[in-house]
Amino acid sequence: MSFKADLTRYKRQMALNGFGMEGQRKLDAAKVAIAGVGGLGSAVSLYLTAAGVGYIRLIDFDVVELSNLNRQVVHWSNDIGRPKVESAAMKLTQLNPGVKIDAVNEKITKESAGSLFEGMDIVVDGQDNIATRMLINEECVRRSVPYVYAALYGMEGFLTTILPGKGPCLKCIYPGECPVPESCPVVGTTPGVMGCLEATEAIKIITGIGKLVVGRLIIYDGERMSFQEVALRRSDICPVCGCI
Ligand SMILES: [Zn+2]
Repeated sequence: MSFKADLTRYKRQMALNGFGMEGQRKLDAAKVAIAGVGGLGSAVSLYLTAAGVGYIRLIDFDVVELSNLNRQVVHWSNDIGRPKVESAAMKLTQLNPGVKIDAVNEKITKESAGSLFEGMDIVVDGQDNIATRMLINEECVRRSVPYVYAALYGMEGFLTTILPGKGPCLKCIYPGECPVPESCPVVGTTPGVMGCLEATEAIKIITGIGKLVVGRLIIYDGERMSFQEVALRRSDICPVCGCI
């Protein structure tokens, strides 16, 4: 379906002040990488596809497992054993055939990061470990590409947007060594909430609407049902972004 023929799909978001046809055109022209199609990536990919982001690159190297299904809502029971990018691409294409879904079944490493994020306007976090997030952060700073970060534990979530050179990067925020990843408890709605917040930031970056969470950490507490905000500072001696 052509962009013009599909405008009815987007009419409720285009009705927003400052969005309009121009905002929709910007979304259609945007290229977004979603780094991981787990719990966060499920919500991010569904909402950015529904919103009409023109090109979405899904990056993951895992296959769907039964224990994923309490939270990774883009994958369903009959997808068990299937590569996550393939399972997600199938649903997303059905949701919005106007979006080009590029399914990349690859692990993000120091060697692969450069080519995986090539040509992308934004990278959105769907990771489950800080070491890979640091690789993404470094690559985004190198390319000067916005990186929307989210992480979670149980019923708690964290969000910030990194605009290289304009605010703190992930290394400014977490300067220490990366702890060894281990699986953590997750109530399925937590990545849902945090993924929706990430998708909102991506839409804001693309359309220019609103104020981004640059230099701020949003802390979601699902148990108390509260959001708090902590100011973040850029580090002059950051080994990743200190010299840009
Ligand atoms: Zn930094």
